[in-house]
Amino acid sequence: MAGRRAASIRALTLDLDDTLWPIWPAIERAEHELHGWLAQHASATAQRFDVAALRGLRETIAAENPHWGHDFTRMRHASLVRALTLSGDDPAHADGAFAVFFAARNRVELYADALPALQALAARWPIAAVTNGNADLQGIGLAAHFTTTVSAREFGIGKPDPRIFHEACRRLEAQPHEVLHIGDDWALDVVGAHGAGLHSAWVRREGDPTMPAGAAQASCVVRDLNELVAWLDD
Ligand SMILES: [Mg+2]
Repeated sequence: MAGRRAASIRALTLDLDDTLWPIWPAIERAEHELHGWLAQHASATAQRFDVAALRGLRETIAAENPHWGHDFTRMRHASLVRALTLSGDDPAHADGAFAVFFAARNRVELYADALPALQALAARWPIAAVTNGNADLQGIGLAAHFTTTVSAREFGIGKPDPRIFHEACRRLEAQPHEVLHIGDDWALDVVGAHGAGLHSAWVRREGDPTMPAGAAQASCVVRDLNELVAWLDD
């Protein structure tokens, strides 16, 4: 049954990383699989750069190229080209190395509540994924639940800028005040959605659910997505 709160909502926008799955276990596993691949195909690079050094190089590249914004794919690929070049290996291996990283990064383990909640929500509303990351919903197997994906990488502007939220609303054919944004990050998801005129649900899986002081307020704070579905039914 759609409740009173649900009645005023016409569409949803949904963050991905750390809202539907924990991202760091996937990134750490992906970094290790990447290193294993380099050990086989570009051993000088694997010897010169351990996992931590590759991560450091990726951060250096990001710092050197602030204009790349949220294009994590480009940063990772460029850091691999540099590591291979510095080590005397063929920089063309960056393509294969990145493919291994990206496949592992998308083998995420969903939170237990994520899939049932996503199914319940998608049955009632069109949903746009709004992400600053480079998750591949097709590869993860969740694309069918989403009307569209607005990624900072493809759109060129990331959260908390209101423009990425407005782009999602446009694709959902809804006005911002008719849309509820759901996400784990206070600054990006709640303050960002508030600034764009959307409602927001803060998914606070662990820690203090007290809302930080400031102008932005979440419409609700939930510990998981089951609570969000229940809140929408209320
Ligand atoms: Mg997130």
